[in-house]
Amino acid sequence: MIKRCALDVAVRAGALGAVLALLPGMPAFASDGASGELATTHAPLLVLHGGAGVERGDLTADEEIAVRKALEAALRAGHAQLTAGKPALDAVTAAITVMEDAPQFNAGRGAVFTHDGRNEMDTSLMDGTSGKAGAASGLHRVKNPILLARAIMDKSVHVMMSGDGAEAFAQAQGIELVDPSYFRIEKRWQQLQKALKNEAQAQASNTPLVLPGKAYFGTVGALALDVKGNLAGGTSTGGMTNKRYGRIGDAPIIGAGTWADARCAVSGTGWGEFYIRIAAAHEICARVRLAGESLANAAEGVINQDIPKAGGNGGAIALGADGSVAFPFNTGGMYRGWIGTDGVPHVAIYKGDAMAMPGE
Ligand code: ASP
Repeated sequence: MIKRCALDVAVRAGALGAVLALLPGMPAFASDGASGELATTHAPLLVLHGGAGVERGDLTADEEIAVRKALEAALRAGHAQLTAGKPALDAVTAAITVMEDAPQFNAGRGAVFTHDGRNEMDTSLMDGTSGKAGAASGLHRVKNPILLARAIMDKSVHVMMSGDGAEAFAQAQGIELVDPSYFRIEKRWQQLQKALKNEAQAQASNTPLVLPGKAYFGTVGALALDVKGNLAGGTSTGGMTNKRYGRIGDAPIIGAGTWADARCAVSGTGWGEFYIRIAAAHEICARVRLAGESLANAAEGVINQDIPKAGGNGGAIALGADGSVAFPFNTGGMYRGWIGTDGVPHVAIYKGDAMAMPGE
């Protein structure tokens, strides 16, 4: 006999793009038949972002079509894992791998350039059930950094590796390495040239150096809830255009750019220095866990209040074990989307874009 507990409540917190919804039919309880006990199955859900650095007018019509297709492909790849009964971690790595391969996003193939004209990538991954994590920073040759994060988590005794050591481990694990020229995308190169010019002008006119703004964000991230009710989250990035001195952002830092625990998972995108100082991803989930806040309130409070108050900006995605989701951001847009049991991808780009929410 199947007993279903349907939550048909959809709650919204619309301010600055934050939205919460509770997914109908979650959790669903099904008899396992053998023991007569109730085995819990959950409606799988995957949410993702492709960075908070986009504004209306930034994309040509063709670019917008391409980015929407890439987001949908990433959602479908993650969803396929979940419907096959695979763990949330597999869905997260599958979705992020697709976005890393797409030149539209600042991760993997489309990574931005450093001050020295290189591509230097950061990534992290966390399993909400076991609390295990893997992270890597300063990568130049790893085609899919998120797969290295997964290998560090699964196959090493460490949590975080950097630079040459991380790439040596990747090689030892049979993870694909590519020539650094693989990451050279002309649009990204031009973004660096523009940033260098702005920097030189600021220096020449003796005005304070303007730190990177929203136009530099493009990190990707994914969060998944699997049929067992387990959460996982991951983030992958090229960092920020014109970064230097081996700068590391929030994306590879567990608790800053990525977090997952038993009831909450978060991936961020934005001005990483502020996400690190606030431990943004962990802070959102701590507010849920310790202060009993709703996921939407916690995400809204950290991303749209704490981060701007500190001087930063950006966005995040958050996913609760109850199927609640939030997409707060305070920039002109954030590539974002979700996919639920019916396998229909939902995506949005700009602030104010309509997107159906889980449960509608
Ligand atoms: N958070 C990233 C960083 O600071 C940038 C981004 O979100 O695009 O490296």
